[in-house]
Amino acid sequence: MPGVQTPTAVAAPETPESTVELSAIGQGLAILGDRWVLLILQRAFLLHVRTFAGWRDELGISESVLASRLKELVAHGIFETAAYRNGRTRYEYRLTDRGLDLWSLLVAIHSWERDWTERPLPPLIHDNCGREAHAYLACGECREGMTARDTRTVRGPLATFARVGLPRQHRRTLASRTDFLGYCPDSMEILGDRWSTSVLAAAFLGAHRFGDFQAELGIAPSVLTDRLRRFVELGVFQLSGGLYRLTDRGLAFFKVFAFLVSWAQRELPAPAGSELTITHRPCGAALAPILLCTACGGTLERREVHFIT
Ligand SMILES: [Zn+2]
Ligand SMILES: [Zn+2]
Repeated sequence: MPGVQTPTAVAAPETPESTVELSAIGQGLAILGDRWVLLILQRAFLLHVRTFAGWRDELGISESVLASRLKELVAHGIFETAAYRNGRTRYEYRLTDRGLDLWSLLVAIHSWERDWTERPLPPLIHDNCGREAHAYLACGECREGMTARDTRTVRGPLATFARVGLPRQHRRTLASRTDFLGYCPDSMEILGDRWSTSVLAAAFLGAHRFGDFQAELGIAPSVLTDRLRRFVELGVFQLSGGLYRLTDRGLAFFKVFAFLVSWAQRELPAPAGSELTITHRPCGAALAPILLCTACGGTLERREVHFIT
């Protein structure tokens, strides 16, 4: 019951049973690899949408899909409900600290779109320097800019994503509304679906062959064939000699992956041995991704930037 709990009595959010054996990254992919979830979060951050009606009207999403996504996001501790009065008592959804932490992931997606797509995007302003920031990924330890090529990954024995693509109430929906805010169709296709996101994650972990992806993900061959074909069409993978290799466009998604991994491993409970250790090779520190401002070199913090919407 929102409103009657004391802050210290709030129980840890329940982890839905279906994902409980998954690695933290597997859970993160399962939670966030969904176009509606990404859009709900984006509207919450950019437009401060807090209510059911707010998202429904803003996104043109069906009420049943919206209700199921919000329920999941509350169950995963990303939103919490709070009562407020507006004639009668209503509930709004507030981002928890765990939810607020996803801010950098969304900025990383924005940054990828800015570098790799043609569409106009809402400018990101760094309040500290007053200039438009093109966020870039850096190591939190040494503050040097970094890419996937500068990292080394060691996986725990149980670091698997198998079962990520559990069925979810999904409808082939409405062609995505390509508005200023949304995401570009490419990033939506790459990130807005559990299987696609998992295929990309597997590629970052070294999967190259059809069989590697299959073994990694436990994915149906027809689904895998479809995702690999699309990734080649989207210029994310290049196929040669039976190997799927990340292109520069695909590798650039590492900044999104880095924040997803870092958030998931920090926030989500997972079985021992399922962790992934990514290190920044030049300095040897464990991955602690940060975003820096191209204009002034300062760290971009959530409270110190805004988008011009
Ligand atoms: Zn470093
Ligand atoms: Zn700046």
